[in-house]
Amino acid sequence: MSTRRGIPTRGTPFEVVRALLEKGGMHRAELARHLQTSRATITNTVTSLLEQGMVEPAGTDGTLELSEGKAPLKEKLVLARRAGIIGAVIHQDDSTIVGIGELDGRVIATRYMECSPDSRGRERVDTAVVALHELLDELPAPPPRLHGLHVAPNTLMNRHTGEVLGGGASSKWHGVNLRREYEEALGTAVVLENIARHSAYAQYRALTGPAPRNVLHVSLSFGIALGQVLDGRIISGAHGGAGELGHVSIDGNGPICPCSNRGCLVRYASAEEILGECRIVTGTDLTLDEAIDLALGGDDRVVSIFSRAGAAVGMALNAACNLLDPDLILIGGRLARAGDIIIDPLRDALFRSALPLFGHGLRIEQAAQLTDQDLVGASLRAMRLDLDLAAAVLAAHEPAAVTVA
Ligand SMILES: [Zn+2]
Repeated sequence: MSTRRGIPTRGTPFEVVRALLEKGGMHRAELARHLQTSRATITNTVTSLLEQGMVEPAGTDGTLELSEGKAPLKEKLVLARRAGIIGAVIHQDDSTIVGIGELDGRVIATRYMECSPDSRGRERVDTAVVALHELLDELPAPPPRLHGLHVAPNTLMNRHTGEVLGGGASSKWHGVNLRREYEEALGTAVVLENIARHSAYAQYRALTGPAPRNVLHVSLSFGIALGQVLDGRIISGAHGGAGELGHVSIDGNGPICPCSNRGCLVRYASAEEILGECRIVTGTDLTLDEAIDLALGGDDRVVSIFSRAGAAVGMALNAACNLLDPDLILIGGRLARAGDIIIDPLRDALFRSALPLFGHGLRIEQAAQLTDQDLVGASLRAMRLDLDLAAAVLAAHEPAAVTVA
């Protein structure tokens, strides 16, 4: 922080950059109010940042001719492309989405790539890195600095070390350290978040109306996972493993699970279990979507399978609600397309055993369908909760940017 006669001053380049990162575009008067300093101080700082090409008036392409480096008074200021950009990779079971965006979270471009659910992790990292380079190459020269990458993989991993843990679905990522791979390939800071936690944050960001305080997102697919967003922050746990609802036991004498415990929720409500039961009762080799269509069409044999699965999820969620006290639960994942056929029995089972405090006013709804833009936008915003981007931006432009008083 710059100083004047040894006293820390307000309205430094660091503070202005951080305010524009967090709040998006602002007028100079808004910046002065937000940073509790004088307009003159802001004008000095902004003029210097404009001269360096770090900020620009909103709505320009960065090539605006500034008269003697003066800030246009009436226009909102945003961080310029020259200050850098950030990126995102989302590894879903059968696709990878990559994207790049402005430092304040505005999405510049995304790319969707289908892949085989059986493809190996290393191959998927290589494909994502090539696609990111292509998106970066499409930007006008000179290439902006990539200040960070948010990666949301479909595997259990330690989000700090990048080490992949767990069996089953994680086996395709065996031997791949996601942090190291992406840091080495792109030379930038990497923030990791499991896809289940990331989906919860993306759903939270897509909500309209007054923000709930504590949102749970339940992903019902071949795995079952919970993501929690409390007061706008993802709760990841100490290692990134918070929310493994699929391995909460609802019957200590139940069927054995690959995790070696008994009665885990996945043995009652995963897409694999539901599909297996639907194939038995119909005597056909259905796909999951065909099974959901039969349920939606009112086939009683199939409806009862989805209904029992929903009730099992409700039982497991009772424990989560007693621990976490959410005000909104969103049901997402591949099975959510069955809608009320799975959600009604889930709700009934949960409320049957709900304590009055968490049960009062708790809403349970189907999650929204999100676009690639929504998912990448959520990655770019989430990264800013973990990385000090303002410090990274100014460090990359030192020493000129930090000597302005
Ligand atoms: Zn288990």
